[in-house]
Amino acid sequence: MKVLVINSGSSSLKYQLIDMETESVIAKGGCERIGIEGSNLKHKAKGKEIVIQQAMPDHTVAVSLVLKALTDAEYGVIASMEEIDAVGHRAVASGEVFKAPTLVTDESIAKMEELSDLAPLHNPPAIVGVKACRAAMPNTPMAFVFDTSFHFTMPEYAYMYAIDYEDYQKYSIRRYGFHGTSHKFVSQEAAKYLGKKPEDLKIITCHLGNGSSITAVKGGKSIDTTMGFTPLAGVPMGTRSGDIDPAVVEYLAQKKGLTLAEAITYLNKKGGVAGISGVSSDFRDLRAAKAQGNKRAALALDMFTYACKKYVGAYTAAMNGVDCIVFTAGVGENTPSVIEAVCGDMDYIGLEIDKEKNSAPNNGQIRDVTGKNSKVKVLIIPTNEELVIARETVELL
Ligand code: ADP
Repeated sequence: MKVLVINSGSSSLKYQLIDMETESVIAKGGCERIGIEGSNLKHKAKGKEIVIQQAMPDHTVAVSLVLKALTDAEYGVIASMEEIDAVGHRAVASGEVFKAPTLVTDESIAKMEELSDLAPLHNPPAIVGVKACRAAMPNTPMAFVFDTSFHFTMPEYAYMYAIDYEDYQKYSIRRYGFHGTSHKFVSQEAAKYLGKKPEDLKIITCHLGNGSSITAVKGGKSIDTTMGFTPLAGVPMGTRSGDIDPAVVEYLAQKKGLTLAEAITYLNKKGGVAGISGVSSDFRDLRAAKAQGNKRAALALDMFTYACKKYVGAYTAAMNGVDCIVFTAGVGENTPSVIEAVCGDMDYIGLEIDKEKNSAPNNGQIRDVTGKNSKVKVLIIPTNEELVIARETVELL
């Protein structure tokens, strides 16, 4: 069985074609700068990467180029689209409407459209991607796989906000959490690596990338997570502020002459480590700037690691201990200094890392960076959200 996984961002579209018998990737790639000048498609298959420079005014064109690349006589991997047995679409916001992966139908698409204001950066491009795939493959079954599903096990006291309960009931305003497929995958991989059942473990998973979130996984279930009603909450991110006193929103709007919606866009796009440093949202640039003595870049990195450390402490308290801390995603898999800062000075819970192992280059495998006398395991695990989406699509079908 071959499953195509589609992950549409606001100006990007990533894809993987996965052979589910072996769980191996047949082809993968992505379109960048959709709707912007200079769009391109990178397609990796048969050990080669090709780059196609072509205008992509919208996601519909991007999808058609991806399907063309997959079936191309020279660098394609399938003879026709008939060989694609199913398509799994990453979906970000589910509200309380979708608590599990859901079949793509006219009805579920309409409901997703209604939910767009929950994730204005993520849901609309996903819907366009879904519609484009359906138009090209009208008979192929498809699923929405949500970032939120893994977090529906949070207890009520963890997901509720302290607002008027009736407004929660009316508007479903609560913590949902995101990056669920990644937190699920790496927590399961950690259990496998440790040779234990997920039910017997307390794990804190740190998905640190351009967007970052941290989750407490107790007995294999998410019991709390840092992102909230939207992916704006939690630790500071590339351009997102993370947690902030909500009164700041109105004050900022007043001072800068913004509408409330514009103030939220400001917190989504002009905050985070980019806002603090004035350098970049990319952690590689921040580290380089810090090395050259840039104080604001150093401050941004300190604020980020301090926020992560606070949540590790909070979730250790929430679970009455922690057996394993996992780092994953772009920053988590590639930035020893972040792991060192988050896990440093944690001897009160018996946590220690091996600095030498932590500094070893990323080999794309699970890396155990636990210190010799540490009571808590520290693992770096490459995430694989696409594989989880493909697995859940197959399970649903
Ligand atoms: P997204 O949330 O967009 O999926 P990623 O998980 O790809 O983001 O993370 C992007 C971040 O990861 C960037 O800040 C970048 O600096 C960092 N990063 C990605 N790859 C590397 C690498 N090979 N070395 C160092 N940092 C990396």
